[in-house]
Order: sequence, then structure tokens, then C-alpha cells
Amino acid sequence: MGRKKIVILGAGYGGLRALKKLQDMHPDVDLVIINRNDYHCEATLLHEVAAGTTEAEGICYPINYVIDRKQTLFIQDTVLGVDQKAKKVILERHAPLVYDYLLIALGFEPESFGIQGISEYALAISDIPSVKRIRRHLENELVKWREDPNDEHLTVVVGGAGFTSFEFLGELTDHLPKLAERYHIDQDNMHVVCIEPTPNVLPMFDRRLADYGSRKLRDRGVEFVIGRVNRVVPGHVYYKNGDNLKVIHAGTFIWTGGVRGSSVIAASGFRQHRGRVPVNADLTVPDAGDIMIIGDCSAVIDPESGQPFPTTAQIAIQQANYAAYNLNALVRGKPMKNFVYKTKGTVCSLGKNDAMGQVLGKNFKGYPASFMKKVIENRSLVQIGGVETMLKKGRFNFNR
Ligand code: FAD
Repeated sequence: MGRKKIVILGAGYGGLRALKKLQDMHPDVDLVIINRNDYHCEATLLHEVAAGTTEAEGICYPINYVIDRKQTLFIQDTVLGVDQKAKKVILERHAPLVYDYLLIALGFEPESFGIQGISEYALAISDIPSVKRIRRHLENELVKWREDPNDEHLTVVVGGAGFTSFEFLGELTDHLPKLAERYHIDQDNMHVVCIEPTPNVLPMFDRRLADYGSRKLRDRGVEFVIGRVNRVVPGHVYYKNGDNLKVIHAGTFIWTGGVRGSSVIAASGFRQHRGRVPVNADLTVPDAGDIMIIGDCSAVIDPESGQPFPTTAQIAIQQANYAAYNLNALVRGKPMKNFVYKTKGTVCSLGKNDAMGQVLGKNFKGYPASFMKKVIENRSLVQIGGVETMLKKGRFNFNR
């Protein structure tokens, strides 16, 4: 019998962490990891590149930092689908790749919920090209305003008032004074609007923290509007408040209203909802014991709420630890472990030195929360890239 092959799809938080753990276990198998790009991107920091406060290189590092060439082959390609019957991964540029065991960790895509114009005209915070586009677009609008002083060019609308929206708005409003100065614009002329269907922003946080976050953003000039985005066309965002259809004229519209799992999941015939597969307790796919799914493509039910846990890097990394253990167990014919999620809390940044969140059951806000956020980011760099990567890419700007 030939050597078995474990194939990992996606080198984000889940995929790369699982590879690192597997390599440490030295299983007697061939390891292959496939990713669209040759770099790993810290997706939790994408909003900073979008706002223009961090360069893309600052939140990425080469996948090669993690790969042990003696054990692992890296293939840079786009996954198109999985042929479960033939046990093959279908790739854009390479021949189909046969696997014995498959770990899918392909992450998220923006979810338009079928709202007209979102897919075509909205900007989204989803990967490096998308956030570079946002930054370019925002700055181009400021340039255009100097030639055509139409308020539309100075109006930024963000659809959704969840975690990503708050992190982006925090970063953007922190950076606005610099942008205004660079493009010779009076900051008071700039208009930043956040649209959300209910006044209940940031539902995952304690109300006092959510109120702190929205107060901070309001103080920096963000206008919160209650409404449901209804349609988007270039330069116009239509939203509904009750039966009233209203419109905002805006040169920039950024959609943060929701994400779904990779479209590869539906294309591969998995039983899924919004690109997420409800996985077994050991992270295998029901009726496919040779396939595990983790991260934003998986759905794990929170026994307390009966709802799937929110998709986060935190859960993806914890699942990766179990997936590595279970893949190694499968290869060796040993029993697998059931995944148990231990939440360590969540911190939402609100710009350079401000944040709010809950860690180990305690509420934090302001500078202490921001300090904690940087520690969390450095920890995830160590967990995936190792100490050297953390020293190269870590966040050490702890000064106020
Ligand atoms: P990802 O980390 O997204 O990795 C997926 C990988 O697959 C990527 O490398 C991608 O290039 C690759 N890929 C995708 N499709 C293909 C394909 N077809 N072919 C080949 N390769 C492909 N979570 C937290 O825990 N804390 C936070 O503070 C936090 N903040 C966030 C802030 C923002 C702005 C955003 C957008 C998200 C944030 N999240 C946060 C959520 C977190 O980023 C995701 O839950 C996490 O990235 C999911 O990890 P993953 O391993 O499933 O996928």
C-alpha cells in the first residue's frame, strides 16, 4: 500500500495552524496544502488596510515560513471544487489532485443576501485585493472632490453595524484627520454613515460595551441610521425604514452586513447553509468520514444557545488543533477526539489606541482593551507562524 495523502485546502487561520500542528506530529503521510496566494493573510486586520492605516505587507507573511519542505508540498492554485466520489480536488491550473484525507479551511466570502446591487457595486472587506480596492477608491473620491465639489465624493456609507463594521469605522475615523490634511479637505465636510436594520448594534457584546463603541464612533462623527439596505447603484444607497424607501448619495459604499463560507462548499455538493457545513463533533462531514471542515466553512452548534458559534479566527484555530489531532489519529487507526470550544473572549478594535471587549468574562475598554487586542494578535502570529514570524510581523506599538 502506498503512503496516504492528507490534503489541506486553504492556508488561513484554520488550514495553516492545522498544517503546523500536523508537521509537529510527523505523521507517516504526504502532506499537501493548497492556497490561492503564496502568503497567509491575517484577515482580522484587513480593515486596517482598507482604511489606509496599515500596508498590505504588514498583515501578510509567506506560507513558506510555516512549511516544512521535507513533509509538505505547497501548491499555489485556486480550488474549484471537490469530487467526493473520486476523492479528488479540482484545481484551476493544476491537474485534479487525489487525496486520502481532506481538510477544508477555505474561509469566508461576502454574503449579499440577494440585495440588488451588492455583488456588483458594493466594496467588501474580504481579502487583500478587496481592501486595497477600498483604500484606492476612498482616496480617489477625495481627489475627485477637488475637481467636482459634490458632497457625494465625501460620503462613505457602511452597511451593517457588526464587528467588522465597527473595526473599520474605528480605524477610518481615527485616520480621517490625516486623510483630510493630505487631500486639503475640511474634515467637517466629510460624512460617514452606518446603516443597520435595528438599533441593536454589535449583538455579540454586553450592551454597555456596545454602547461604548457606538458612542465613540458618534463622537468621531459617524451617523447611525436605522434602515435595511434595499438596493445599491453607483453613487446611491437605497434603504428601507419601515415602508419608507430612502436614499443616500454616496461615492463609497462598503458592505459589512454578513459573510458566508466559501462558494467551493456548495459547488462540491456538501449539505450546507450559506456555505457552512454542520460538521460532526469530531469535525468530519456527515457521510464523509475522510473529509473534515473547519473555520468559516463549518458550523458547530453552541450547546448553550442552540445556534452555530459565530465564525471567528479564534474558533478556526481551536478547530485546527483538533483537526490535526484527528487526522493523525485517522492515519494511525486511533480514536478521534470531539471538538470542544473554549471561548477566550472577543475584543473589537476602535482605531489605533481604542477598543472594547470581553476577555475571560471581564469587560475592558479604551487603551487596556486595545493593548489586549495587540497581545491577542501577537499570540495568533506565534500559534501559526511561530516566534520568528511574530517578531517580524508582530504589533509592538503599545505607546498611546
Ligand atoms: P481564512 O483565514 O479566511 O483563510 C482561508 C484561506 O483560504 C485564505 O488563505 C484564502 O486565500 C484561501 N482560499 C479561499 N478560497 C480559496 C480557493 N477557492 N482556492 C484556494 N484558496 C482559497 N475573528 C476573530 O477571532 N477575532 C477578530 O478580532 C476578528 N476580526 C475580524 C476583522 C475583520 C475585518 C474580518 C474580515 C474578520 C475578522 N474575524 C475575526 C473573523 C476571522 O478573520 C475569520 O473567522 C477567519 O479568517 C476564518 O478563518 P478560516 O481559516 O476559516 O479562513
